[in-house]
Amino acid sequence: MAITQTFGGGIHPHETGGGKAVTCLLPVVTAAAPARVTIALSQHAGAPAVCCVKVGDKVDLGQVIGQAQGAVSAPVHASVSGTVIALTPCVVASGKSVPAVVIENDFEDRWADTVRPCENADALTPAQIVEIARNAGLVGLGGAAFPTAVKLDVSKLDPKPDTLVVNGSECEPYLTSDHRLMLENAAQIVDGVLLAKKATGVSRAVIGVEDNKPDAVAALQSAAKDGVEVVALPAKYPQGFEKMLIFALAGRRVPNGALPSAAQCVTMNVATCAALSAAVREGKPLIERIVTVSGRVGTPCNLRVRIGTSLLDVIEQADGLAAGVRKLIVGGPMMGNAIPSLNVPITKNFGGFVALGEEGLSGEESACIRCGRCVRACPMGLMPSKIDALVRRNNYDGAIAAGAMNCMECGSCTYCCPAKRELTQSCRVAKAIARLKK
Ligand code: SF4
Ligand code: SF4
Repeated sequence: MAITQTFGGGIHPHETGGGKAVTCLLPVVTAAAPARVTIALSQHAGAPAVCCVKVGDKVDLGQVIGQAQGAVSAPVHASVSGTVIALTPCVVASGKSVPAVVIENDFEDRWADTVRPCENADALTPAQIVEIARNAGLVGLGGAAFPTAVKLDVSKLDPKPDTLVVNGSECEPYLTSDHRLMLENAAQIVDGVLLAKKATGVSRAVIGVEDNKPDAVAALQSAAKDGVEVVALPAKYPQGFEKMLIFALAGRRVPNGALPSAAQCVTMNVATCAALSAAVREGKPLIERIVTVSGRVGTPCNLRVRIGTSLLDVIEQADGLAAGVRKLIVGGPMMGNAIPSLNVPITKNFGGFVALGEEGLSGEESACIRCGRCVRACPMGLMPSKIDALVRRNNYDGAIAAGAMNCMECGSCTYCCPAKRELTQSCRVAKAIARLKK
């Protein structure tokens, strides 16, 4: 099924060096397990997990090493079997220093006895599915890392959601981990969608995939059952943002500042759905994920990587950095973070790594020529040039009044600005200052 309903604004980013075209054709390869993993205790939205192991402890694969605390949190699990050798802060890709557990791998891959397949998965109640998602440490794998159990638990919502919107758009340039997952694990994704549908009690479940991935659309359509819909969406950045998806797939607008529940929708990413199926059917906690390694690396690829593996180890498995690298980005080039070092661990929300050369540098900024491109590109209907001008004059209240808090930080305005102005950054600054003032 193809539809044309789409949001206003948006852009069509081009990709140098093949971008998605290189890695979307290559099957996912399981990366060799590293000699040690550094597992961050805060790799999800909400309160950090509390460490429940000590140096010298033997741990099994899938064993809880950090327990969730508070209503919005998630446990973390050992991604190798071995010995805890340190409890120490580590710097993650966002630049934050967070507590972490370092485990030396014994390469026995000895599963914890809590990891057991479920024999009666089809008989589980909604509350039991939510509980499994919670215990498995599932979080949104599309980047936000919001605890999945919190999303699936709709018991306190009024009105109840009626639609599950599943994101298979993967609209960021270079990143193809979801694309490969849709090709290789379509049945598992559909199973996860049906489990999420049961957990939330919605009457409709729909997966949206950009129409530049016809093979993924076909794979999901042939796996779809029990009323799960698969819809091809016009390829346009940022189609994968939840507000855009909800508008395209459910025809509803999420009010500014509100959550998808305000439009009676629950949103999930395809990779999170696959992880939910693995947690329910196989009892597997979230201990690995697919990571796209792309741009100027020896062998661009999609790797299935244990959580806690050093990015340095991951890059080695992609045959290292190639010549001419000027910028290292975790995530995609539109939304990702530039990082100064490869010494960061893979976390649950680590979707990809892109090494860019000169093409990744923004160039010298010049004065705004009032061309209006940023305004036409903004999917939120903002005037990025105006917000930028206000922030540069330190008029943060004015920037907030101009709608800066509604900025989704999609990067479309910065991308299309011929004057190379850091418009998205100005919105980020305004939002950060507004939060500090609260
Ligand atoms: S102002 Fe924000 S939402 Fe609008 S295009 Fe720029 S980054 Fe995206
Ligand atoms: S795109 Fe750049 S140059 Fe054009 S109006 Fe916006 S800020 Fe000014």
